[in-house]
Amino acid sequence: MNIVLLGAPGAGKGTQATVLSKTFGIVHVASGDLFRRALEEKTELGLKARSFMEKGELVPDEVTISMVLERIRKPDCRKGVLFDGFPRTLSQAQALDSRLAGERKIVDRAVYIEVPEDELVKRLSGRWICRKCQTPYHEVSSPPAVAGRCDACGGELYQRADDKEETVRERLKVFFSQTVPIVDYYDRQGKLVRVDGNLKIDEVSAGIIKALRVESV
Ligand code: AMP
Repeated sequence: MNIVLLGAPGAGKGTQATVLSKTFGIVHVASGDLFRRALEEKTELGLKARSFMEKGELVPDEVTISMVLERIRKPDCRKGVLFDGFPRTLSQAQALDSRLAGERKIVDRAVYIEVPEDELVKRLSGRWICRKCQTPYHEVSSPPAVAGRCDACGGELYQRADDKEETVRERLKVFFSQTVPIVDYYDRQGKLVRVDGNLKIDEVSAGIIKALRVESV
């Protein structure tokens, strides 16, 4: 089963992806995490992506597509992939479809987690993430038990540089102009599942799991 998770920055894709990849036994591939790792390791890919990420803009398609297609060549992706943050443009969606078609596979479902814009800004500007296992926290709605430490693995929590309010607004603008058309793309193919993301984390998970089980192919 290949699932695409769609939603604005802050909609909870990363949080839900952790639950869903366990529930469905498929690997979680997050393009943003792949870029952040490349940045930390100062690879050529990281250097190419850096300026775009800092401004909250999309990294060019050719760079992004080759990075993700390379990642899903690995054996852990054979049973299926939960795509988080990819595709974000029509070209990326088409490139993914044609790669999967070459392996007689398809994107089975696209889940769109919907959250109002004001709520997204609130969520992103209070967000802290574990450097080790990527678990997200929020300083108001879901703080860690010990300040600055991850409850799950004890790792150090940090605030993403692109979670500053100005960059957050740019990322949301980019999402509504460039990524929303992807929602229509999957809708036209009858693959779209819309989920209310403005609920408690476990209610959102339950909504997605139910929708995927009921509508699973
Ligand atoms: P994310 O963690 O998904 O919010 O991604 C962080 C940043 O990485 C984005 O603001 C983009 O600069 C870049 N990025 C992640 N995924 C993509 C993608 N599919 N296409 C282009 N840029 C991306």
